[in-house]
Amino acid sequence: MKTVLITGGTGLVGSAIKTISEQYKNKYHFIYLNRNDCNLMNYPSTLAYFIKNKPNFVIHLAANVGGLFKNMENPVQMLEENLVINLNVIKAAHILKVDKLIACLSTCIFPDNITYPISEKDLHNGPPHTSNEGYAYSKRILQTLCNSYNKQYGDNFVCIIPTNIYGPYDNFNLDDAHVIPALIHKCYIAKENNTPFIVSGTGTPLRQFIYSEDLARNIMWVLEEYNETEPIILSTDEQDEISIGCVAKYIAKEFDYDAYLEFDTTKSDGQYKKTASNEKFRKYNPAFNFTKIEKGISDTISWFKQNYPNIRK
Ligand code: GDP
Repeated sequence: MKTVLITGGTGLVGSAIKTISEQYKNKYHFIYLNRNDCNLMNYPSTLAYFIKNKPNFVIHLAANVGGLFKNMENPVQMLEENLVINLNVIKAAHILKVDKLIACLSTCIFPDNITYPISEKDLHNGPPHTSNEGYAYSKRILQTLCNSYNKQYGDNFVCIIPTNIYGPYDNFNLDDAHVIPALIHKCYIAKENNTPFIVSGTGTPLRQFIYSEDLARNIMWVLEEYNETEPIILSTDEQDEISIGCVAKYIAKEFDYDAYLEFDTTKSDGQYKKTASNEKFRKYNPAFNFTKIEKGISDTISWFKQNYPNIRK
C-alpha cells in the first residue's frame, strides 16, 4: 500500500479528495495533513513529519489562499507565508525521495496582459495582476522550484493549475473568501435579515469555476496517469466561462431570494477575465464530465445549510 500525503488535507480540495477516496482505498493510504498536525512554516517540523510518515506521493495543497479582497489587503502574508511553506514542503519531499509530488498553482497567477485563452506556457510571460501579485509570485516560484529539482536531481514534481475552485468545506468568511462561498454566505445572511443581497463590483467579470470533487478526480488522474513534468491546466471548457452576475443569480435563486440582488459598483472587479484553455487536459481526457455549475452551486448550498454552525466563516 502506497502512502499519499495531502498537505492542506482538510481544506476545500483535500476534503474533496477524501470524499472520492473510497474507490482508491485498496491502493493508497491517505494522510490528510492539517495545521494542527504539523507547522509547514517550520522546516525542522516539516522534515520530521515527512520522515515519520514516509510518503510515496505528496499532493501539496497547503497555502495561504483567499479571494480578491484578502489578496489586496495582505500582500506580505500571501507572498511570505506561501514562499516559506513551499520551500519547506518541496525540500522535504526531495529528501524523502517521494515518487511524485503534485503542487497546486492557479490560473489567477498568470500575466495580466495576455492573449486569451491562457495556456500552460504563458505562466512567466509578464507580470501578474497587481491585486494578487504576492500570491502570484509565490506560486510562480513554486513552479520554478519544482522545475529546478526535476532538472538538477531528477525529481518528479509536477504543477497543476486549476481555475476558481468551489464546493463543500470551503472557507465562507465574508471578507476573505472566494466569490462563490462569499456570495452563498452573504445571500444566506441577507435572507435571514431581510436585507438586500449585495454583490461586490459590476457582476460583469468572467470566470471558469471548477467543482472541488471534479478537481479531486482530476488530481488522482494526474497522480496515476499524467507522466509529463510540465504543468497542466485543470479547468472546465472555455464555453463554460460565466459572469459573476450570473453566478450571483444562481445563488440567489437557490435561496429563493433573487428579487433582492444588488451590485455595489464602488467595489473592485479584479481582473475582467482569465479564460484558460484546457486543451492539454482534454487531449488526455476527452470525455471527462465536469459538474454543471447550477448543480455544483446547489449541492454546495445544501452542504452549507446542513453544516452552518461548523463551517469555516
Ligand atoms: P478571483 O477569481 O481570483 O478574482 O477571485 P474571487 O473568487 O475573489 O472572485 C473575484 C470576483 O468576484 C471579482 O470580480 C469580484 O468583484 C467578484 N465578487 C463579487 N462579490 C464578491 C465577494 O463577496 N467576494 C469576493 N471574493 N469576490 C466577489
